[in-house]
Order: sequence, then structure tokens, then C-alpha cells
Amino acid sequence: MLHSMTTEPEQQIGVGSPDAFQRLWTPHRMAYIQGENKPSGSGAEDGCPFCSIPSKSDEDGLVIARGERVYAVLNLYPYNGGHLMVVPFRHVADYTELDEAETAELAAFTKHAMAALRRASGAHGFNIGMNQGAVAGAGIAAHLHQHVVPRWGGDTNFMPVVGHTKVLPQLLGDTRAMLAAAWPARP
Ligand SMILES: [Zn+2]
Repeated sequence: MLHSMTTEPEQQIGVGSPDAFQRLWTPHRMAYIQGENKPSGSGAEDGCPFCSIPSKSDEDGLVIARGERVYAVLNLYPYNGGHLMVVPFRHVADYTELDEAETAELAAFTKHAMAALRRASGAHGFNIGMNQGAVAGAGIAAHLHQHVVPRWGGDTNFMPVVGHTKVLPQLLGDTRAMLAAAWPARP
């Protein structure tokens, strides 16, 4: 789902290899443009996938962990194996719209995601961030989501990604189970 619709803003950011960074945030564009999971409006009833996922089982929704205000879910169209997202339950577009409790739990879940990915996959590094607005590359711009993408040296990762667009459902299910098991227990 990384559903980036445009690449210009990221191309202007000089972080590491520009080419690698560009590829990081755009791999799912084609799948997204083809209409998969494309939301038609806000809320679960109107097709927002991030609003409808929490009503599914963990297995069906690829949910890794659920908090009080946010949840972690595996990306259907990962850049790398283990690419997940931290998403508020509330349908909020802009980061500044999150209240303090949502902001705090989103940050805590981002840390938990890093810990789980290190434990489960030995990730060497991470790309973490969110695209704000369609102009910045957010495909589902109406419902904010923080990407957590594990990186390895040479990106020889633990789960094969086919053409940087889609992995087999079985692999996604296995990955979800691994990360759920590695997720830090709540205090
Ligand atoms: Zn939503």
C-alpha cells in the first residue's frame, strides 16, 4: 500500500542515496493506481482501508498489534519484508490533528515496531516516516499512517519481495505472526 502518487518531494530530499530513497517511497504506486484498496471516502463505510482493517481478525487484517489509540499493520505492498505501518484508529489526515494521547502511542508503537523487527529479523536500520498529503506522496492521504521499513545491509532481507510490489499472502501471514510474537509486551 505504500501508495505514493508522486515522487517529486522525496526526490528533493538528500538522504543517503537519492535513488534508493525514491524507490523506497514509490514501490506500490502502480498497484495503487490500478485501484487496489483505493479508498473512495472517509470511514470504513466509505472505503477507507485504515478504518476497516481494525474490524478484521489479526490474521485477516495482517494486524500485528493493537493499542488503545493506534494499531500496527503489515503493509500489503511492502518495500522490504516486514514493512509495517502504525495507524491511529481515528480517521485523521494530518499529524497536527492527533491529540496528545494518540501522538504518544504512535511514538511508542513506532519504538515497539523497531524492537519487534530487530528481534524477528535482525534489521540493521530503518526508514521511518509519513507522507502528508497526496502532493507529498500519500496514497491514502485521508488517514495518516507512519511507515516503518526495516533495512539490511544490501537489503538482503528475510522475506522475498517480488518485484518490489507484492509478496505472497502466505509470506505476509508468516511475517505477521513473527512480528506479533516479537512485539514487546505491554507494561
Ligand atoms: Zn480512515
